[in-house]
Amino acid sequence: MKTSVKRRPFGNTGLKVSEISFGAMNLRMLPDNDSANKLINDILDTGINLIDTARAYDTRGYGNYAISPGVFISSEIELGKAISARTDIDEPLVIVTKGHGYTPQEFDSHLAESRERLQIRNENGKLFIGKTEIILVYLTHGIGLQRYEGMVRSGLFTHANKMREEGLYHFLGFSSHYGDSVVIQKAIESGYYQVCELPYNIYNISLGEGGSTDLIKLAYDEGLGIINMKAFGGGGMVAISEQLSDLTGIGYAGMARFCISNPYISTIDAGVTNIEEFLADIHAASLPRLSAQERVELRERSLVASRYLDSICRECMHCMEKFECPQSVDFPRILGMHGRYTVSKSLGFDISGYKSEYEAFDPPASGCIACGECNEWCEYQLDIPDMLETAAHDFE
Ligand code: SF4
Ligand code: SF4
Repeated sequence: MKTSVKRRPFGNTGLKVSEISFGAMNLRMLPDNDSANKLINDILDTGINLIDTARAYDTRGYGNYAISPGVFISSEIELGKAISARTDIDEPLVIVTKGHGYTPQEFDSHLAESRERLQIRNENGKLFIGKTEIILVYLTHGIGLQRYEGMVRSGLFTHANKMREEGLYHFLGFSSHYGDSVVIQKAIESGYYQVCELPYNIYNISLGEGGSTDLIKLAYDEGLGIINMKAFGGGGMVAISEQLSDLTGIGYAGMARFCISNPYISTIDAGVTNIEEFLADIHAASLPRLSAQERVELRERSLVASRYLDSICRECMHCMEKFECPQSVDFPRILGMHGRYTVSKSLGFDISGYKSEYEAFDPPASGCIACGECNEWCEYQLDIPDMLETAAHDFE
């Protein structure tokens, strides 16, 4: 398959991966299974060779965000269906998937479930989906310090290595989030992992050059393949990118170029819901690399927006994969909208539509009883009840 998407070394795995890859999390935001199938096929037609998915990426783990209630869309199942129907993919596809297996038993059952949903089979010492050879990278989803230490104690890594030698997958990795720098460093230096998936973007470089240790460079130096997630800051950021771009002069392409010009990153995981966005990302990656000095200047320009972004919900939805509010408060959607309202108001944009949009929430923000149970599930350590109180004050 002909493609203009450049390849980069994927750490010490011996693989080369496309600089832009498909983050298949948002397939669950599409209206139906046919739309998901079409998007996957359109993306495969671009010739990228890495797709990032997870066992948890389905409409069940998306709470009441599903666009078509009752329609079940699983990223892994849709990928398995679409790839198995293709006969024209002439290089191995790198499939990255993730589970929450923190003990050997959980690891086995989550890996088996993902392999089944993706329709992966072993043949002559290789892995295939349909006629397409695949390289399976299996990640532990969202490691934190306690979990990681529990994994070491449970003997998970010895077991995972055995499963790898038995040919169930090729490379082991982990994903983690902002605020987890201690465990990320431990994991990188442990020698257990060959791949990591980390958030990094122009507005938050704390796991890169903005942190006390540049963990992205450390992972590179240790030979890990590095998948850059949230290069565009998460769904909530994309929704206010126009306002931010007005403020900083940095558009969508600038954000992509900032990340792709970081020499340590292997691939940017673009979590799109339409092919046009994906092609725009590929185009941005094809533009000349920014020099180190240009990156510093761009980053300085972005800082004018930082004070608006420190405490907004990014609508990343990771909380919803594991938690549901006992009072049925749709806090990510309320907070995401309130964040856009706040930024738009500060920057003098039109805010007239927000109050009527808010009226659709039932219960509204004031339905929160401030139990605080949601806070531990927020990837960005937001104080959710406190923010809901502000939203209720502004809208009710
Ligand atoms: S603090 Fe509010 S939003 Fe969070 S779980 Fe409790 S009631 Fe729900
Ligand atoms: S509350 Fe936190 S984890 Fe949930 S969507 Fe918002 S930023 Fe993401």
